[in-house]
Amino acid sequence: MSPTPSTSSVARIAFLSSDVLVNSLPPLPTTSPYSQTVKSLSDASRHTPTILSIPNGGDPGATLLRNRSGKLLSYLALASPHLVTRLIPHIAELSSLPVVFHLAVQDDLSDVLTLRPSIPFVLQSSTAQQAHDHALLASKLARTEKKAVLHIFHLGDSTETVEEVQEGRVQPFLNSELPRSPPRTPISPFSNGVNGHGANGYLNGSNGINGHHVDDLIEPDSVTSELYRSYEAATWSTVALTRRVIRPITHRASTSPDTVIISFGRFPTLSESPAGVSLVFVSLFSPLLPAKLLQAIPASADRVIVLEQIQKWPVKFTPFYLEVVSTIQNSSIERKPAVLSGVLGNSDNVKQVDLLKLVQQAFSGLGPLRLGSFSNEETTIAPVELPHVPKHELSYTKILSNLFDGRLEIANTPFLVASEGSAATSPEFALGKVRGELEDREELVRAVQELMDSGDLSGDVHALLGKWMRARDDPAKSKALAEEVVWELDGVKDPAAAKVLALKHHLPALSRWIIGSDAWAYDLGASGLHHAIASGLNVNVLVVDTTPYSARHTADPHRRKQDVGLYAMNHGDVYVASVAVYSSYAQVLQAFVEADRYPGPSVVLAYLPYESEDAMALEVLKETKNAVDAGYWPLYRWDPSKEDGEAFSLDSDAVKRELQVFLDRQNHLSQLVRSKPEMASELVGSLGESVKEARRRRAQKAYEELLGAIDAPPMLVLYASDGGKAEKVAKRLAGRGKARGLSVDMKTMDSVVLEDLVKEEGLVVFVTSVAGQGEFPQNGRSFVKVLNGAVGRGEKPLQGVKFAVFGMGDSHYWPRPEDRHYYNKSGKDLDARLEQVGAERVVQLGLGDDQDADGPETGYKIWEPLVWKFLGVDAVEVREAEPEPITNEHIKVASNYLRGTIAEGLEDQTTGALSPADTQLTKFHGIYQQDDRDIRDERQAEGAEPAYQFMIRVRMPGGVCKPEQWLQMDQIADEHGNGTFKITTRQTFQFHGVIKRHLKSAIKDINRALLDTLAACGDVNRNVLCSAVPSLSKLHAEIYEFAKGVSEHLLPRTTAYHEIWLDKKQVAGDALKDVEPLYGEFYLPRKFKVAVAVPPTNDVDIFANDLGFIAILDDKGCLAGFNVTAGGGMGVTHGNKKTYPRTADVMGFCTVEQGKFVAEKIMLVQRDNGNREDRKNARLKYTIDRMGLDVFKAEVEKLLGYKLAPARPYSFDRNIDDFGWATGEDGKHHFTLFIENGRIQDEPGRDFKAGMRELAKIHKGTFRLTANQHVVVSDIPTSELETIKNLLAKYKLDNLSQSGLRLSSSACVAFPTCGLAMAESERYLPVLIDKVEKMCEENGLRNDSIVMRMTGCPNGCARPYLAEVAFVGKAPGTYLMLLGGGYYGQRLNKIYRESVTEPEILAILNPMIKQYALERLEGEHFGDFAIRAGYIAPTTSGAEWYDRMGGEGEHREVMA
Ligand code: SF4
Repeated sequence: MSPTPSTSSVARIAFLSSDVLVNSLPPLPTTSPYSQTVKSLSDASRHTPTILSIPNGGDPGATLLRNRSGKLLSYLALASPHLVTRLIPHIAELSSLPVVFHLAVQDDLSDVLTLRPSIPFVLQSSTAQQAHDHALLASKLARTEKKAVLHIFHLGDSTETVEEVQEGRVQPFLNSELPRSPPRTPISPFSNGVNGHGANGYLNGSNGINGHHVDDLIEPDSVTSELYRSYEAATWSTVALTRRVIRPITHRASTSPDTVIISFGRFPTLSESPAGVSLVFVSLFSPLLPAKLLQAIPASADRVIVLEQIQKWPVKFTPFYLEVVSTIQNSSIERKPAVLSGVLGNSDNVKQVDLLKLVQQAFSGLGPLRLGSFSNEETTIAPVELPHVPKHELSYTKILSNLFDGRLEIANTPFLVASEGSAATSPEFALGKVRGELEDREELVRAVQELMDSGDLSGDVHALLGKWMRARDDPAKSKALAEEVVWELDGVKDPAAAKVLALKHHLPALSRWIIGSDAWAYDLGASGLHHAIASGLNVNVLVVDTTPYSARHTADPHRRKQDVGLYAMNHGDVYVASVAVYSSYAQVLQAFVEADRYPGPSVVLAYLPYESEDAMALEVLKETKNAVDAGYWPLYRWDPSKEDGEAFSLDSDAVKRELQVFLDRQNHLSQLVRSKPEMASELVGSLGESVKEARRRRAQKAYEELLGAIDAPPMLVLYASDGGKAEKVAKRLAGRGKARGLSVDMKTMDSVVLEDLVKEEGLVVFVTSVAGQGEFPQNGRSFVKVLNGAVGRGEKPLQGVKFAVFGMGDSHYWPRPEDRHYYNKSGKDLDARLEQVGAERVVQLGLGDDQDADGPETGYKIWEPLVWKFLGVDAVEVREAEPEPITNEHIKVASNYLRGTIAEGLEDQTTGALSPADTQLTKFHGIYQQDDRDIRDERQAEGAEPAYQFMIRVRMPGGVCKPEQWLQMDQIADEHGNGTFKITTRQTFQFHGVIKRHLKSAIKDINRALLDTLAACGDVNRNVLCSAVPSLSKLHAEIYEFAKGVSEHLLPRTTAYHEIWLDKKQVAGDALKDVEPLYGEFYLPRKFKVAVAVPPTNDVDIFANDLGFIAILDDKGCLAGFNVTAGGGMGVTHGNKKTYPRTADVMGFCTVEQGKFVAEKIMLVQRDNGNREDRKNARLKYTIDRMGLDVFKAEVEKLLGYKLAPARPYSFDRNIDDFGWATGEDGKHHFTLFIENGRIQDEPGRDFKAGMRELAKIHKGTFRLTANQHVVVSDIPTSELETIKNLLAKYKLDNLSQSGLRLSSSACVAFPTCGLAMAESERYLPVLIDKVEKMCEENGLRNDSIVMRMTGCPNGCARPYLAEVAFVGKAPGTYLMLLGGGYYGQRLNKIYRESVTEPEILAILNPMIKQYALERLEGEHFGDFAIRAGYIAPTTSGAEWYDRMGGEGEHREVMA
């Protein structure tokens, strides 16, 4: 339908005045006359309401209620009986909301007037100008009174002109206060004008011509009066804006008229009224004040003709006629005129003469009074027309017909409307029909059985019936047999045979379908679908979604057909497919066939996007492609009758987020089914009930959301968190919200898209921490990018969204004044951006500062109550304890000795990840889940899950392996990993890039090499380090055995490892039992590291370990025992001064035999005294500082049953490796080769991996990995020396010409695999060294060893806090710089600068190195020099690590 000036001007005002605009589309092939205006304003206007379109099949009442707006909701539609019927059930609820129904009519108010009794204000406009002004008035009225207004206006014609108010004046008008008195204007709507005459000869009705005194008037009730006063005030305000008259009732009077014609409808514009006739036009239908009506009837009047433009009411008395009669009867006027009822038709061609004829007819009392022209259907209910099925939709029905040929039955085919009425297309009707037919078929089966049991049949007929019984559900066979059965039974005289023949229609197995189409069948997305699913009947439902991808923002979010699929899947026993004929024809066929075969309910969601019937196939194709590629419309099939792993088939690449969530959940559920229920409840909180219950609840939730029966969750918590801190706060907020009765949803920021967010009806709370230099944490970056894009384009996509932000940061993280703005930058930026994109801040930005007394809690405690206050739940008393967050401690104890659901997770092929709880448990198995961070953003942008992969760490006490084992490691890296492997700072191999599918095979292969990964990570004793000491062969053998002994002694005893990875086959050793005598169910509070050192080399950095054994030799050079050290540890959290590195204390001396028991008891004291509340404070170093070394030692000795002997003298002189050749006492040779940062890989010109492989093929001795990430080729007999040397030379593995700095350097892995990395490390340190080593060379220090270490985060895997100079990642390209570590690992360094980039590093080091070269004392190391030269203060203990940080004296960083 083409727009008219009326529809355009009404649509414009509705657009400019509302927050939410709902446009109801007319039945096809009609188009909405509003759409064009709405679209052009969407492109051009500064005002951006939320716009929704409802297809003709939708339920407008439910949509309006779901999208209710705080300020103004406007609804545009063409009036129709169907529309009114759908509005009526909701109208009572809608009437008390600020909503305007703008309903266009064409010369008939029959339909819309059925709404009048329930709506407080009803206005009628006859002209386009009046429609414009009334649209403004209606908006003002609804907004200020917070009540519904029905604005009925006539479509009019295209010749009308409208003077429109400027866009910029609409909102100020709506926001202005209502005036208390009429505006001072010569055209006041309620003044009488000159001598009682208004403009154009029209009179208003206050006390003009009627002659009735106010005392004659009946009093309206107080409610009506109140409503009228509101109308008056809003009218004054509107008149002040438009400068045009607005009147509730107008007259065109003649002198002393005897007839008054009151018109309720569009009346012709006549130059003057006929003599003796007064014309009254009513534009305010409600509240209709009796007094105002009476004022319009002069005392001279003998008769009143009430003309109503109501053509279809099947009752004798029409509503306004009754009101006029009642008003006159109840008044106190003496001479009461007669009241006659008439019908007003199309008044376009009405002339004065027609009025006179009407009056004469009224005098004569002949026939019904009618004015104007009437169409043929006048005063009768229109016959039911067959629904129009859009041509595009035939694509699907044609496929159904072709596939199922004669056995297709569409239960709600539009053709039924002719015989069954319009309800025949409704799902309720169709379902009833299907149910009836299925019951008939059962009846048929019983009749056939009865006939077969009767014994009167011939053998052949009996056999035939038996055949049919067996094949009755087979489509082809049952159809073929049906004809035979009918043929054979014809003429059989048996009541049962007659019954069979009566039901012969059901002999073939039909394919029964119900079709949900926006165009002609009622909305199947609501109750119809639910009933079909819940019925359990063998019925197929085809739901056609026509919303174009490009128009998805304007579709009603609560009617998304995609959600129907999720809802149906959640039901558990429904076949579900999502198809798109323009994307995959074959998949449509497959889905239809599968749905037909499935013995229960099936739902097929079919996509067919088109704007109008005329849409070209190419447009439909493009829209389909976009929707499918973007994941908006994923193609999939879900067949619950198949095995778990095969039930779901994804037929398009992009998986919609909701679908992914469903799948994740489904996986999780299936895992839980197989695991112990008690564990499920422990681990998964909200999934604590049985699977059935979880399904039921989810189905219920989906259903409720689908029907819109409940409000959307009032609080959505979105978080962005790298380290888990912000996530924790978000979880807590969500938990506390739930405890206050709120419906809460929680997600990462990146998992929402703006178009979904804008649909949020409640409060959206953002919680974010800061990453790097004020950047957003990874899982919030995409979201922020989108926000920034919208800000850049000046768009406001989040209009109407209410938000609150809580940011978390550290005000000291960036100490320099110029960097201060980085403090809490993410939170501040987010808060500002949200406002810029139109969202409404309802709670002031909250900021949590690590430096506050209570850390971020201080700020949080102030902010959180504001959130509750806004939501109106601040007074809610929360009695129940808030659910305890799931911690690693819960996960451990509930894991059944480290099993968790790892085995089930490995089988789940729908994701590359394991469940979050399992990722904690796999650490104990030596496995870390990671993802490729280099491509994380791209994957996110593609809508794909991160590129999950796993790191596997081998347990290899002392770092000793055989050449065969090296070869096997090399092969594992190629076959299962990324082709490289790493020698770690804990003397072992580490593989990266192992995907889930390869995980088990990789672990099996490692075990085949007689190594394992058990306890290589996790809260247990990790790989035990042992000095490589190449020259002391005998001693090395002894301490290696000792290290292995300690490792075995402290090994977890769970059999889970063997069960999960080795299919219960044990590798070697004693039978393992599921009792953890040392660890118990909780294992340790944190990791536990043990090392064995042989002075004078401290290559294992003994003081960095929780427990250390320093080998003490007797006078004969034999191993006498060990000095025991305890309490070392590296990990720190940036900005958290409760965390610090610590060097171990020497506790005493023990013999070799006592060693493993000392290790055990120290570990047990830590097990029982370590802090399990706070993992950041759980390491042994904090336990010892909290207990005091003496108390701790006493506890250990108590468990030992004896005291440790006093420590014996020892001395170290280095913590780096002795590179090059060495010969042991046994005459065997050892070569320590340099592998930069332990990475075994082939690079151009450096084929180290190949070289080592070749070496391993011929080497007869062993390899020892060092804790500095290098390799000792050890135990080379002299006979092999030459061969080995040649091979080393061939692959340049013997190259030790690197600078002293490089040889003493070490870096952790960091990017791209480590999930905790904040900055580059392994990939960057060599680059930095290139530059620093040049400085060293220039100053003659090329061969001087300076221990330089780098890590990507403060966890300190490469032990940076013991280096002479170290860099710890803070943000990409930015590092903490530390100076002053002891050369042999005896002293911690200290923070020199809190944030340096490469230029600053070079600027700092250049003069320092020069000065070192010039001024160092004999043998003085760089770390000692940095202290002596006054750069940095020495660190005397871990607890004092932060004291005097920032440099000394003139080298001190100046703080603002
Ligand atoms: S120090 Fe940090 S970045 Fe480096 S490997 Fe360890 S956890 Fe990862």
